[in-house]
Amino acid sequence: MKRTLIVAILGFALGGSTAVWKLTSEATPALRTKEVPLLEIVHQNADPLRQFPESFPLQVAVLWTAPIPDQENPLPFVHSLKEMGIPFFITRNLPQALRHRLVILYPSVDLRTFTQFQAEQLTAFVRQGGFIFAQNVFWGGLQNLFGFRAFVPSRKRYRLAFSVTRDPVIKYLNRPEERETQLGSDHFPEIIWSNGYVPDVGAEVLAHFDDGSAALLMNSVGKGKVYLLGLSLLDVVLRNQNNRDYEAQRHYVNAFEPGADVWLLVLRAWYEAYAEDWVRLATIPGGQRSALLLSHDVDWENSFAPGLDFARIEKASQASSTFFIQTKYVDDTNSKAFFFGPNLDTLRQLKAGGSTVGSHSIIHSRGFNKFDLGSGHETYSSYQPRGLGFDTAWGATVFGEVRVSKELLDGEIPGQDTIFFRAGHLRVPVSLPEALERSGYQFDSSFTAADVLSNFPFVLPRDLGFKEDSEIYEFPVTVEDEESPGFAKRVPQALQVILANAENGAVSVVLVHSNESILKAAAEQELLRQLPPDIDKTDMLTFAKFWRARDRLQWSLTATSVSTEAVLQVKSEESVIGLTFEFQRPIATVTGATMSPDNRHLVLPELAPGQSVSLHISYLR
Ligand SMILES: [Zn+2]
Repeated sequence: MKRTLIVAILGFALGGSTAVWKLTSEATPALRTKEVPLLEIVHQNADPLRQFPESFPLQVAVLWTAPIPDQENPLPFVHSLKEMGIPFFITRNLPQALRHRLVILYPSVDLRTFTQFQAEQLTAFVRQGGFIFAQNVFWGGLQNLFGFRAFVPSRKRYRLAFSVTRDPVIKYLNRPEERETQLGSDHFPEIIWSNGYVPDVGAEVLAHFDDGSAALLMNSVGKGKVYLLGLSLLDVVLRNQNNRDYEAQRHYVNAFEPGADVWLLVLRAWYEAYAEDWVRLATIPGGQRSALLLSHDVDWENSFAPGLDFARIEKASQASSTFFIQTKYVDDTNSKAFFFGPNLDTLRQLKAGGSTVGSHSIIHSRGFNKFDLGSGHETYSSYQPRGLGFDTAWGATVFGEVRVSKELLDGEIPGQDTIFFRAGHLRVPVSLPEALERSGYQFDSSFTAADVLSNFPFVLPRDLGFKEDSEIYEFPVTVEDEESPGFAKRVPQALQVILANAENGAVSVVLVHSNESILKAAAEQELLRQLPPDIDKTDMLTFAKFWRARDRLQWSLTATSVSTEAVLQVKSEESVIGLTFEFQRPIATVTGATMSPDNRHLVLPELAPGQSVSLHISYLR
């Protein structure tokens, strides 16, 4: 009965004017909604110095060298080090930085950065066994320490290749896609700035640009070493992640593209090579090697029912998935409304069966990236967008698509709190992070991993800029089902990409549209069957909650008076299962955590929000 009524109203709405439709829908609300409060943006991360304070000796010191009026925020290193689970703090104080064994200089060193006396302090630090990772050192006063004779700035270097060397910092770069990366497409006459170095005798070139100049140098000085990069991680990590790059990706989707990840892996290897008795917060829960995050987009009237088949095969394979639902309640030139009746029953069934649910917008427009932000006061009763074609729409806003779809999903599905979003056609407006965080979302999956050259989840900067992180975490799509020749024929290729990511401790996000469940479900089942057992298979929401808690975790490692003992202190803001720490030194015994057979990984028990634990660790030797 109810369905007939809705269809009748929609028919009437199409025939009549918009004003009449609005009156009708206000009088007889066809769908249940739950109010979505409009939140204010909280600028929690305004001061990096206070956000990342010094707390224990193992931390890497990030010395923020930018002059205060035109400071370049250390966001690229915050992203890289946090994603890798490397402990760090940020300081402007050189003596404080030099009390730590590993020091990063960010963003650059020019003739105003250090006094002659400070340059001598830096040199003495390295000579006595300190390790520096710096980018864009221009000052002649530090040429000897960093091992270069000259440098040439340019915006015309398009590729970078790592050398064949035994240097430990590139030990994770074993695949061709990692050995050589692209910095931008040569369709652009100019791309990011780079500084090609002329090495000094004695300095080793670990990577070079396409014009033959050195991109990454290593210089040994006394007991220590310095590494110098002729690029900024702002350009090769952050710029890729917020998709402001000069088309640096070599593929769009369904391929392994680690162009940003290589720098995270270099930092990880640098830390593991030179920190003493290092400890790292692992990227994957439960001591696993990687995770496969399963998702389905439901963006057609007949895509609901096959979802149940996918849920069934996933359950049989000890997996689960997240369904991103297009809440299409209006008719337009692209499709009829389909968010009603039996489709909603199917959704409730999926949710009750253990699948998780996210939003896939309302009108699923390919022009979403050009939509206005909107007011934030869009609601189901007032928001009446219409797609006029694939790319154009009338009356649509970013807030409307994000907020009203949440109102409906939360209203129609018992127990649902929609905090995950995926844009239709993966088109991303720069205002998306703001619309999401102000509507109470936490997670997004609207980019492809190859396009952002990142296979680790990351925080979306506000306005997709360079100054400040939003509260939204991004989980880009690694493998999808629609590119020719179709998912069913690409399972071996998908598996290769998943294994390449697993090697790095990165994750792979799989998107399968639930428009049919014969070929595609069989292919997914085959993929799950061939997945190695140390790759976790889970829905996106469960992993995303883990990642957020991990990203916000506070932890420290304190030595004791006994050289073979240490205390690991952990405090989680949020509930989290399976937090894993990796240790350089093998562990003999620990209380309150599970040790892996290799004696080098500890898996913590479930932590409640706000819970702290102290683990007493005895090393084997
Ligand atoms: Zn879609």
